[in-house]
Amino acid sequence: MFYLDSKNEEMCCGCQACEQVCPTDCISMIEDKKGFTYPFKNEEKCIECGLCEKVCPFVQKKKIDISFNGLPKAYYAANKNVDTLMASASGGVFTSVIDTYCKKDFAIFGVQYDDRFKVIHSYSGSIEEAKKYRKSKYVQSDINNSFKQAETFLKRRKKVLFTGTPCQVAGLRLFLRKEYENLFCLDLVCHGVPSQNIFDKYMKYIEEKNKGKISDFTFRHKVLDKNGKWNSRNVKIKAGEKELVMNSNEDKYLKGYHSGLFYRPSCYNCQYANSERISDITMADFWGVEKLYPEDDVHKGISVILVNTPKGQEILKGLTETMSLKEVDLDFVIKSNGQLNHPAKKHVKYEDFFKNINSDRFDLAVDKCIPKPPLIKRIASRILPNEVKKSIKKIIKWRG
Ligand SMILES: Cc1cc2nc3c(=O)[nH]c(=O)nc-3n(C[C@H](O)[C@H](O)[C@H](O)COP(=O)(O)OP(=O)(O)OC[C@H]3O[C@@H](n4cnc5c(N)ncnc54)[C@H](O)[C@@H]3O)c2cc1C
Repeated sequence: MFYLDSKNEEMCCGCQACEQVCPTDCISMIEDKKGFTYPFKNEEKCIECGLCEKVCPFVQKKKIDISFNGLPKAYYAANKNVDTLMASASGGVFTSVIDTYCKKDFAIFGVQYDDRFKVIHSYSGSIEEAKKYRKSKYVQSDINNSFKQAETFLKRRKKVLFTGTPCQVAGLRLFLRKEYENLFCLDLVCHGVPSQNIFDKYMKYIEEKNKGKISDFTFRHKVLDKNGKWNSRNVKIKAGEKELVMNSNEDKYLKGYHSGLFYRPSCYNCQYANSERISDITMADFWGVEKLYPEDDVHKGISVILVNTPKGQEILKGLTETMSLKEVDLDFVIKSNGQLNHPAKKHVKYEDFFKNINSDRFDLAVDKCIPKPPLIKRIASRILPNEVKKSIKKIIKWRG
């Protein structure tokens, strides 16, 4: 089932480990019709060493065995600094981990926008500069040659902190083919990644609609909602002179993203959407935290972390300086977070979306697949407090 043999697109997460490991540089990443990149092998240059298959996270998952007795353990994790919380996607775990792990001679790998809003992996030798990695980018990052760069640093005994999606971290570990004491891996629970191509089409639509170039863009922008609670399912965009803040009902990219309309095909077949983790610490949103801690103010952002290895446990001790941490029931955490149980579900109109997007404007392509709810429902959703909405949903469910 190895992608380069089967060409089954559900079997390639696009981590680029095969491209980076190839000793003859015979593999290159080529974009398909949907805009996702896949490895392509130049048979004339291939020496059939088989390394590409040995580092593939979709074929070799079982080789990454980091299981330890009594682990993982789950912790409620909230940064004590409000500015950090507001600048982070959820509970500010990433900031706390870099503060704790990166004391001297280190390289932090993370995901940023470049100056044309391409989503890329890069590294930084400064904690201040690494803050550009904060906030989720709901796009597959271009790993480029980050695995090779990380290996060079590791061999020079620099400390490396690598952050990414679970398949990217798996790709790195397999690429390295040995354990390094000076490597720390921090992955996230991941819903799925759209392609850069789809994100570019969305950005173009926003620029045309608002008649101005985008100069700033943020996912997970935290906004105080009408119920007096902070909500992070928003985008904040500066387009020309306009500043836009839109939630997932208003913004078409968020709408499509949260409905599973345009992820990479392998995301729906993700091998890492479960509780067997492959990094030292896993960070996620803490869904359902209100049920465990109804008195806590958790709305500015709250994460849950899974500590998976003794290295992760060691770092956890340092996190207590900057974070509120409480051990929580692992089963509760797993049950409350879909992507710790199963991959995201493909939207029924997935193929239609990719047909439409070639001829339609971005918003129309989404609207054709996910029609607007009836007007009465939209008005009710805007004016009713959350508690009332929850009760109505319960009644509808109860009446079947
Ligand atoms: C694509 C994506 C999907 C996610 N899906 C879920 C989910 O379904 N359920 C859930 O509980 N949590 C999900 N998360 C994780 C979650 O939203 C937070 O990132 C996590 O809780 C860490 O919070 P924080 O406040 O420490 O993050 P921040 O301080 O904001 O740090 C963000 C971290 O995410 C990394 N990152 C950002 N964008 C990407 C990207 N495109 N690819 C790889 N790494 C990236 C950065 O390098 C950095 O390490 C997702 C994150 C991403 C990027």
